[in-house]
Amino acid sequence: MTENVLPTSIRTDGAANTVSTSSSAMSPYVFPTQIEPFKWAELGFVWQGRVELARFARVAAEVIPPHDQQAIALDCKLYVDDRRIARLDATMKAILPLTCQRCLHQIDFDLDAHVHLAMFTDEKYLDRLGREKDEVDYVILSEAQLAHGAEAIDVLNLLEDEILLLLPLSPKHDDCELAVTSVGDEIQVVEEKRNPFDVLAGLKLK
Ligand SMILES: [Zn+2]
Repeated sequence: MTENVLPTSIRTDGAANTVSTSSSAMSPYVFPTQIEPFKWAELGFVWQGRVELARFARVAAEVIPPHDQQAIALDCKLYVDDRRIARLDATMKAILPLTCQRCLHQIDFDLDAHVHLAMFTDEKYLDRLGREKDEVDYVILSEAQLAHGAEAIDVLNLLEDEILLLLPLSPKHDDCELAVTSVGDEIQVVEEKRNPFDVLAGLKLK
């Protein structure tokens, strides 16, 4: 099983060193904003829990509000594989309510993202991937990305990039109709946008 680079190896090889901030999906702990990827990978970092959608601002911008109760279930591991390559593995799950671009009603997007990233400080180390080079996703965490010399990065930002790649550009139901209605021979576009004064009235009630 030497070629197995799955994160289960952490538990057997480096269990004593494993940094685990949480073992429960109901974790009260907050995912760290800054992580030193190579150091933490060396130690073995495991995190499971829910991350508020608001922390993925670029994703949240696409999701129907309110966002305060929405979260992404994250299962994240940092480890070093047997070729001394730092790895970030993550699974992210959520049901994200998007807006159908045809009928303008809600369409739920079932996010089920599996991220496997090899992390390098410099391109010159890419050869370590060998034959995997064309198959493995990797990131070069150049000095520019390592914040303020602290060698820390925002892992959520990396993960958010992966979510954005999966989000449909133009989500549509399979079988909905364009938000138009016909009156006699004329086609009228249904006015989906509410009167701004109605929106204000709604806010006042809450
Ligand atoms: Zn639709």
